[in-house]
Amino acid sequence: MTLSLSAFAQERGVKYFMISFTDLFGAQRAKLVPAEAIDDMQKDGAGFAGFATWLDLTPAHPDLFAMPDGDAAIQLPWKPEVAWVPADCVMEDKPVAQAPRVVLKRLVDQAADEGLRVKTGVEAEFFLITPNGERISDEFDTAVKPCYDQQAVMRRYDVIAEICDHMLSLGWKPYQNDHEDANGQFEMNWEYDDALATADKHSFFKFMVRSVAEKHGLRATFMPKPFTDLTGNGCHCHISVWNKDSSVNAFADKDAPFGLSAKGKTFLGGIMRHGPALAAITNPTVNSYKRINAPRTTSGATWAPNAITWTGNNRTHMVRVPGPGRFELRLPDGAANPYLLQAVIIAAGLSGMKANADPGPHSDLNMYEEGHRAKNTPRLPLNLLDALRALERDEPFCEALGGEFVSSYLKKKREEWTSYASAITQWEHDNTLDI
Ligand code: ADP
Ligand code: MG
Ligand code: MG
Ligand code: MG
Ligand code: MG
Repeated sequence: MTLSLSAFAQERGVKYFMISFTDLFGAQRAKLVPAEAIDDMQKDGAGFAGFATWLDLTPAHPDLFAMPDGDAAIQLPWKPEVAWVPADCVMEDKPVAQAPRVVLKRLVDQAADEGLRVKTGVEAEFFLITPNGERISDEFDTAVKPCYDQQAVMRRYDVIAEICDHMLSLGWKPYQNDHEDANGQFEMNWEYDDALATADKHSFFKFMVRSVAEKHGLRATFMPKPFTDLTGNGCHCHISVWNKDSSVNAFADKDAPFGLSAKGKTFLGGIMRHGPALAAITNPTVNSYKRINAPRTTSGATWAPNAITWTGNNRTHMVRVPGPGRFELRLPDGAANPYLLQAVIIAAGLSGMKANADPGPHSDLNMYEEGHRAKNTPRLPLNLLDALRALERDEPFCEALGGEFVSSYLKKKREEWTSYASAITQWEHDNTLDI
């Protein structure tokens, strides 16, 4: 039985529900619905003009309805009279095939059909910057190696602790917060969960971090590479696959190398095989490609991968196996759509399991110093257009993700690329004016 939102409102003193869906570009769109009107909305959904969002719809399409998922409602800890409810898009009573939460739910169902439950944890790094977006907000945060900087994290204690307190009150089991490798950059970690729950939490986390930062007169950005010389915003994803009742981790085998089971290696094989196509979703913006394949930053490393390689506990590769029973995909960045991120991981992993895919040998190289020695290693796409082409070429993967979704995604992202390609940049002026 799905939770009745009006009962939720009565129990908790909620006055407004924010019925929220995420579009193809990762934007969260919402209607604020008074609790008095929520019964009808829970039955019929909240109405939207789909063309006004990034969902590849025209102004002539019928109304889009966002059906709130009552079981996933979250009361805003910083404004308890409001509750956020992630929603699934429907049109004329059918799910909208290209809507990201719909895409993910379909893949979660496919995994369930195989008796599998994918569990993930994300590390959504962010910068705290000035409201005008021009620079980091803390003028004293200037260390060359600022990672774990004790003094700098304490100068932002009011923001970080407020967000962490909220996660504690929501029962997310946060366990650590730190200053990251770029000046002005932070990371907050909470416990992994089922892929759909992680996607909802990831979406809410972005909303919460931005909201709390704004309350403190700051701005938070998850942009993949906001500043040329500084490490970018990654969004690593740790992955394990469990049986139906979560009692057995199918990735765990203490006798296998790195503690990763044979089954886990086939899931990993799928991730490796579809690596270039995956990037079109895990690294979805023009700016994403300035984080991966990037020159060294002032801190000494980018912490982002440049090739499709895997390893044990070594942070210079695309995939790291940090300990038994899970692996970490280090490719995704802060612009990754929380739902599509989980969807591509499941699609690639399941197809790898079905095909008994071999991830190939692991590598122990320091990819930042010795990457040139990794012979016959596929490289990651160098820009968004390359990544979109790689996705389009990988037909079995497109099919696994859902053909309708992929064609809408490619269309809208190609338009974005064309818009970027037509812009004349400062770099061009600097390098071409006098030629
Ligand atoms: P690191 O910075 O070393 O990559 P973090 O501690 O920042 O690691 O993040 C690790 C993430 O992995 C957390 O979200 C954590 O809950 C998650 N995690 C731990 N174990 C598993 C597992 N078995 N399956 C999926 N995610 C996991
Ligand atoms: Mg109107
Ligand atoms: Mg981390
Ligand atoms: Mg980090
Ligand atoms: Mg990590």
